[in-house]
Amino acid sequence: MNGQDCIFCKIIKGEIPANTIYEDGEFKVILDVNPASKGHALILPKEHYADIYEIEEDVAGRAMKLAKKLACHMTNVLSCDGFNLIQNNHEVAGQTVFHFHLHLIPRYVGDKNADLLRYTSETFTPEEMKVICDSLKL
Ligand code: 5GP
Ligand code: ZN
Repeated sequence: MNGQDCIFCKIIKGEIPANTIYEDGEFKVILDVNPASKGHALILPKEHYADIYEIEEDVAGRAMKLAKKLACHMTNVLSCDGFNLIQNNHEVAGQTVFHFHLHLIPRYVGDKNADLLRYTSETFTPEEMKVICDSLKL
């Protein structure tokens, strides 16, 4: 999909309303319409990139820098007890809006999403782990 039919591009252009907590020339940060917790926000680059594979490295770097700043700010304001950064790519990984975005999710002791990131681990033999490791070395 290009930016034309993209809901986040429409939000960035102001065609669809959103609760905006931060904006600069490169990013808009909005509250998620279906928040996982109080303050759940999304960092959107204003340029349309579908996902981590498309986004330019420098833009991704600046998005992470902004995430650091906002995580500290939001934690101060909301007095949350922890914080998740989540970024989904492709349907199999849970992506539903195909415009790169970084979730900022404040966490609270006792919140109802305790298992947000809990997964069942897969088992690999030491030999398989070595093959995987060797294949991934950069
Ligand atoms: P994904 O599953 O692609 O990582 O996350 C997409 C997120 O965008 C979801 O958490 C969803 O609630 C949020 N979202 C989808 N449509 C809208 C919208 O129109 N406005 C806002 N503020 N958030 C949206
Ligand atoms: Zn878009």
